[in-house]
Amino acid sequence: MGKVALVTGGTRGIGAAIARGLQAAGYTVAASFAGNVEKAHAFQAETGIPVFQWDVSDAEACEAGVRAVELAVGPIDILVNNAGITRDGWFHKMDQAQWSSVMRTNLDSMFTMTRPVIEGMRERGFGRIVNISSINAQKGQLGQVNYATAKAGVIGFTKALALENARKGITVNCVCPGYVDTDMVMAVPPKVMEGILGQIPIGRIGKADEIAALVTYLASDASAFMTGAVLTINGGQYMAN
Ligand code: NDP
Repeated sequence: MGKVALVTGGTRGIGAAIARGLQAAGYTVAASFAGNVEKAHAFQAETGIPVFQWDVSDAEACEAGVRAVELAVGPIDILVNNAGITRDGWFHKMDQAQWSSVMRTNLDSMFTMTRPVIEGMRERGFGRIVNISSINAQKGQLGQVNYATAKAGVIGFTKALALENARKGITVNCVCPGYVDTDMVMAVPPKVMEGILGQIPIGRIGKADEIAALVTYLASDASAFMTGAVLTINGGQYMAN
């Protein structure tokens, strides 16, 4: 049987492209989502990829969600921690809800989602964990103190977890996309977007499939020697590690 992959936030945007990419590469894939049932069901109908609804920031829901996925498709070999949100605003105007929701969904989810799968991976001696961070963790961004903080945390999480599991056949890597054509980026005001485009040497924003191709490589056996890596994929916008 093929390896099993779970993609959080895998029903639209970058996550949906990752789920499709992994399916095309021969994996058995499951996708989770938060609340957009219509989109999720359309995705399932179109791809045949089963979808599961829970909040990645809720530890109990994640534990139950992982067990439901495992019952449906088998033990999880590949976890893609992709679900994320933005709640932008200048820090001096930011309220606690904006801060906390971004921390919970983007950073707490690293713990709540990875904790229920890591022991099984260690026992089986194989695992691939791919965490989606952001260019804005690396370079900062106006209006995103909450998001940049959470996504920078994802990088630390990746490296420490990679160290702990390096001898167990488990790799843990992190992808930092630049701006990619999804609903999340459609929320950026056109004037701000114009400025951003001017900063991208390649001259366009990225496609979700381009991120998916990198994640598919990180999920593969061929990437076994890569762990704790922070991979930038941003059209040359910020050339940093
Ligand atoms: P989208 O907003 O297009 O999709 C987000 C997905 O995550 C949806 O499936 C959504 O479910 C799910 N989700 C959101 N919150 C939760 C939650 N609490 N529990 C479970 N699932 C949740 O996002 P993108 O595809 O643009 O982004 C994907 C990842 O890539 C994010 O981590 C984002 O921060 C990161 N990223 C995106 C960039 C971009 O330019 N787009 C650039 C850099 C990083 P539902 O459909 O039910 O709402």
